[in-house]
Amino acid sequence: MISIAIDGPSGAGKSSISKSVADKLGFIHVDTGALYRSLAYIVLKKGISADDEISLKNLLKTTKVTIEYVDGVQKVFVNAEDVSDKIRSEEVSMMSSNISKKPIIREFLLDLQRQLAQENNVIMDGRDIGTVVLPNADVKIFLTASPEKRAERRFKQILEKGEKKEYNSILKDIIQRDYQDSHREIAPLKPAEDSVFVDTSDLTFEESVLKITEVIGAKI
Ligand code: C5P
Repeated sequence: MISIAIDGPSGAGKSSISKSVADKLGFIHVDTGALYRSLAYIVLKKGISADDEISLKNLLKTTKVTIEYVDGVQKVFVNAEDVSDKIRSEEVSMMSSNISKKPIIREFLLDLQRQLAQENNVIMDGRDIGTVVLPNADVKIFLTASPEKRAERRFKQILEKGEKKEYNSILKDIIQRDYQDSHREIAPLKPAEDSVFVDTSDLTFEESVLKITEVIGAKI
């Protein structure tokens, strides 16, 4: 099986670029952020605080997260509830960053991620794929863009959905999430030593897909 790890901060385009490249290669795309988000969704639904480790532990005992592919699109289920669309709110984004620093949360999701890579050719995107989840991945890419560019892209996406949010508030959330994700003790966001660094700040989506395809093509 071939594994491609794509790590980087939120909003760098990891998921949409990975999905497009995975479709071209005939690989499955695993968006691991969606797994953390699905747990954040259930934590919010149950009204549990991110720092209440006992309640988190009890919650995980009765929680099952699964992934399915429908026409190549990843769907995430928590206890059989399809949460794929419900996990995209700003509230879930911040809660996923808050709970993802907890070792019990990370451990809970580790086997699922590794099992997917054992059974399929994968492009897996996240924060710690090349460093922790799949340290022997065939290709490792660290995909990033400036916080301002990422906030701009998110701002446009929100407008397109017919919603509204201040650009400055989006930028602030992005900077806070970057800080939390890269300063946590366990599995922090950082480039694997053997990763290829790609900055998409000045690239269009199509140019980014091409660049990633070239990087992969040179390695496998
Ligand atoms: O990638 P996405 O923004 O959907 O991820 C949501 C949150 O989940 C991130 O801010 C990060 O805290 C966490 N995450 C993680 N490790 C991963 C993927 C996501 O800690 N591999």
